[in-house]
Amino acid sequence: MFDSLKDRFEKVFSSLRGKGKLTEEDVNLALREVRLALLEADVNYKVVKDFVERVRARATGQDVLSSITPAQQVYAIVFGELLDLMGRDVKPLSISPKPPTVYMMVGLQGSGKTTTAAKIALKMKRSHKPMLVACDLRRPAAVEQLRVLASSIGVPFVGPEEGEIDPVRVARRAMERCSESLVDLVIIDTAGRFQIDEELMEEVRVLKESVKPHEVLLVVDSMTGQEAVSVAQVFNERLGLTGVVLTKLDGDARGGAALTIKAVTGTPVRLAGVGEKVEDLEAFDPNRMAQRILG
Ligand code: GDP
Repeated sequence: MFDSLKDRFEKVFSSLRGKGKLTEEDVNLALREVRLALLEADVNYKVVKDFVERVRARATGQDVLSSITPAQQVYAIVFGELLDLMGRDVKPLSISPKPPTVYMMVGLQGSGKTTTAAKIALKMKRSHKPMLVACDLRRPAAVEQLRVLASSIGVPFVGPEEGEIDPVRVARRAMERCSESLVDLVIIDTAGRFQIDEELMEEVRVLKESVKPHEVLLVVDSMTGQEAVSVAQVFNERLGLTGVVLTKLDGDARGGAALTIKAVTGTPVRLAGVGEKVEDLEAFDPNRMAQRILG
């Protein structure tokens, strides 16, 4: 993950360290490299520009340049700015004081939405009684996939009845079943399409109005870079997201989505998908990400 970004940063800092005392010109040269590294990693242009300006303002201060360890100080400044970009806190998924808690999974087809619903159910199973609900009714394969996943991790499942096409009814039936099966967490998988379209948004919006979820989690594929950021922007404007799940971080994603989503949409990345297996889900920890990037 982020390999080329990591290599580029490593070069920048090793050249700074080799210099001992730094001049403003050294910092400017290093920042030119940082800028190129971030752009190459597919970080949003405006985000890169602001990032570099903030680092420049802090790193060219007299107390940094005249210190005996200027390279380390520049490193610490870049580290802090990366944290600010991704959001500093790790916020666990919220639990309603009045059960059942409801999470709604939204996103485009192929992003990893259905798999992530099951991953979250498995994680939450340690402390809760989750139920998986299939509300992607246009694709029988999606319903079947969730049914199989639910059974493999041993959590109750609710899906459409024969010929049922209204996701709101399926979700309501699921909610009604909670008390009899002692379920306190309902995870709803919603319709996905290959592209954002009006019909998809409207269907998901109506479902959201009806079930009033405590978390609306957008699942996006980190490999798609800026495309993932645009998707997050549109879903956030239309639905109001509470968080993003970045999937496929086990692949060779360049980092653009991870570093841009929070800055552009204001919505933090909450979870990271790190593999195809149902156990492969981690909290998205900006501190660990920044460490990974800067080495
Ligand atoms: P959906 O159409 O959004 O519901 O997507 P799926 O849940 O069916 O996932 C699409 C593909 O991505 C499947 O082959 C998943 O196994 C795979 N996938 C999902 N999350 C991850 C992840 O974090 N890492 C990897 N490597 N593959 C993932």
